[in-house]
Amino acid sequence: MKRVVVKVGTAVLTQNNEIAKVRMLNLVTLIAKLRTRYKVILVTSGAVAAGYSTLKLDKRKQIGKRALAAAGQPILMTAYKNKFDIYDIPTAQILLTEDDFDSGKRVTMFQEIIDAHLDNGILPIINENDISSTPEQLFGDNDQLSANVAHATGAELLVILSDIDGYYDKNPQENKDAKIYKIINEIPQDLLFDESTPNNEFATGGIVTKLKAADFLIKKGLKMFLCNGFDLSAAESYLLQDKHTLGTIFESKK
Ligand code: GLU
Repeated sequence: MKRVVVKVGTAVLTQNNEIAKVRMLNLVTLIAKLRTRYKVILVTSGAVAAGYSTLKLDKRKQIGKRALAAAGQPILMTAYKNKFDIYDIPTAQILLTEDDFDSGKRVTMFQEIIDAHLDNGILPIINENDISSTPEQLFGDNDQLSANVAHATGAELLVILSDIDGYYDKNPQENKDAKIYKIINEIPQDLLFDESTPNNEFATGGIVTKLKAADFLIKKGLKMFLCNGFDLSAAESYLLQDKHTLGTIFESKK
């Protein structure tokens, strides 16, 4: 079975500083279906936002962000567990940092853990370890973390479920005539130096971190699909019916 990494962002998973339960359930239902065809690894954000539901700290401060992530990570995992239980899917939590990808020894360690989970029908749920890591040890966004996870775990595809339908030729919030690119083979390198532009106060990503993730994967010969996480129909038709309706595919020219 092919491996696929599914990454979901804070904007999709939370609403008014609470877990968006229906959206999470829709995601869990999609993953249950995907598991008939793929070995799935989930990379999830949302810990910092979920932490804010019980702890009102300033997430722009390092200590605030860490304390929120520490409070929110179990809330996030409990919400996932309750929903994956409906489908009898056992889950495991894996927290990684950028540092884990620097040493071959550490990469092998988490690869073996993930292999053991996938071989035994367990769904690995990965987030960045915001809690005990210094800023230098972190990617800082789960787009790049998930791209590195896809590469390190031998996945063929990274699916990013986002608050946008795909990658547009211009900012869709400012331009009504903005069009979605269906396929991108190469990322113009100057775009990778732009500032991050998250659409949610608890998210760290935005389009720039997605382009960085896509650039990394294209250069490794892997594929990324960016699509809407609120309405999962594009993800479902692409992954389960091999139909590319909406969403952007990033892959190197064949
Ligand atoms: N690790 C952060 C969290 O769980 C999210 C990072 C991101 O937004 O990409 O809240």
